[in-house]
Amino acid sequence: MLRLSELKLPLDHSAADLEVAITQRLRLAPGELRRHQLVKRSVDARRRGAISLVYCLDLELEGGARRRLLRRFAGDPHLRPTPDCRYRPVARADGSSEALRPVVVGAGPCGYFAALLLAQMGWRPLLLERGKVVKERTADTFGFWQGRRRFDPGSNAQFGEGGAGTFSDGKLYSQVSEEPAYIRKVLEELVAAGADPDILTLHHPHIGTFKLATVVRGLRARIEALGGEVRFGQHVVELLLEDGADRRLAGVRLADGTAITTRHLVLAPGHSARDTFQMLHGLGVAMEPKAFAVGVRIEHPQALVDLARWGEAAGHPRLGPAEYKLVHHCKGDATAGRSVYSFCMCPGGLVVGATSEEGCVVTNGMSQHSRRERNANSGLVVPVTQEDLAPYGQPGGEALAGMAFQRHWEQQAFRAGGGDYRAPAQWLGDFLAGRASQEAPPEAVEGSYRPGLRFGSLDGCLPDYVLEAIREALPVFARRIPGYAMEGALLTGVETRTSSPLRLQRHPTRLDSLNTPGLFPAGEGGGHAGGILSAAIDGIKVAEAVALSLCEPALPG
Ligand code: FAD
Repeated sequence: MLRLSELKLPLDHSAADLEVAITQRLRLAPGELRRHQLVKRSVDARRRGAISLVYCLDLELEGGARRRLLRRFAGDPHLRPTPDCRYRPVARADGSSEALRPVVVGAGPCGYFAALLLAQMGWRPLLLERGKVVKERTADTFGFWQGRRRFDPGSNAQFGEGGAGTFSDGKLYSQVSEEPAYIRKVLEELVAAGADPDILTLHHPHIGTFKLATVVRGLRARIEALGGEVRFGQHVVELLLEDGADRRLAGVRLADGTAITTRHLVLAPGHSARDTFQMLHGLGVAMEPKAFAVGVRIEHPQALVDLARWGEAAGHPRLGPAEYKLVHHCKGDATAGRSVYSFCMCPGGLVVGATSEEGCVVTNGMSQHSRRERNANSGLVVPVTQEDLAPYGQPGGEALAGMAFQRHWEQQAFRAGGGDYRAPAQWLGDFLAGRASQEAPPEAVEGSYRPGLRFGSLDGCLPDYVLEAIREALPVFARRIPGYAMEGALLTGVETRTSSPLRLQRHPTRLDSLNTPGLFPAGEGGGHAGGILSAAIDGIKVAEAVALSLCEPALPG
């Protein structure tokens, strides 16, 4: 096969037009193109009046056409032999694996992919998840959002089957350019577990909340069918370490006192497992502080974003609701050196309560697969530095300073929201003018946050330098998206769980903890991933490291 990339067609074209475009681009004789297969399709909207679709395709050609084209287009970067992106497992269990059963903690994308890969390689992993199975978790979380159930610190937007991304937009792309074989492996497994096959070919694929719940169940079924085991309500509260200088991992203890022995533990607890971080810190597991960002969620009418991005083509069925990505590097006296960026933008989505701790308010965004809600929402966040965090650290506990910082501002937001899990909110015009919100301005966006909003001021809910940086960025963003700084856009606080506030340090190739052999920190919580796709990929990589370690010949005892 040959891979042809960057083939542009106008928005309105037929399947026959695509075939003609391939034939013309490569000057093929009739009949030489046997078939073509879509690899990726993206949108080029740089010229709003002439939006085009950009194709990457694999081509199967007749007879000697392949060799001829490779010669003729030798200097053309957009025609190449199709790369081999198949994923190949690194090891295979030899059948004597019962005593060596690896344990995985956390049923998020990282933990589920680590368990799936271990199971596919022939080990029969045991996966422990503190939360509930996805159906019960959905009832708890949506019940809380809709005001029918009390907040449950054990079952919420962060904790339970599927992890933090279960009730989300389910965007499946990452900032990091990972090896294509890993990306392909994750996407194919998601499709096998029930995701729409279009995630394999869209440039910016997403799954959406209710489909994610199905996919999560599908992943569990695949792990179990291969001999793995998934247990819920299993809260790991302690690591058991061997006596002696090398502190080798010997097992874990659960909240009910049960001890489970293992010599290989994949720890994928997500960025919100504060009690787990505290426990690891108490045991002296190697960790360091890590940068993260905090800010607010902003909501606009989706139509405003569509118009800015797609112009007259807004509403075209091939485009769907538009996304955006914004960055501003601050220049003001009080803000210089800071930056503001949009985070986890959800087209046609909802803002949701994403706390996992009582007495805290945390925002995040989610959407259904159709992305049909009226509002676009996005985090607007400002990275915080080690100096910002320093006042929150205890002597000897610097790695936990970020966690204390997050908790402090989440509690401030809880109080400003009225102490009943409503979130503090402010209209953008009031925010820029520095006055508390009372009356809704004309054309005010109706906020989607559940359990509800309390209008007032965001002052005191976030550090002043964060609010000032966002104030500076809003008019700049309005130059990119006309209307972005509209008076009635809505800001809801606080967005604090953008990534892990610490990193569990690990060996660069063995991937186990720097000072606790047998412990494999993984995913977003370990500070080694950010987002669903990269957490899943890290899960695969750590599963490979565990498998290689399990294959190592045992030292004579
Ligand atoms: P998690 O998904 O956080 O999973 C960790 C799991 O470990 C949890 O289920 C938790 O209950 C369990 N656990 C924790 N501690 C213990 C313990 N001590 N014992 C047993 N179990 C434990 N990312 C995207 O890429 N795209 C998006 O569209 C997107 N939207 C999001 C929307 C929301 C509302 C939220 C909250 C997050 C969103 N994210 C999104 C982020 C994404 O969900 C995370 O990056 C990803 O889930 C991290 O995967 P993980 O497996 O490392 O950790």
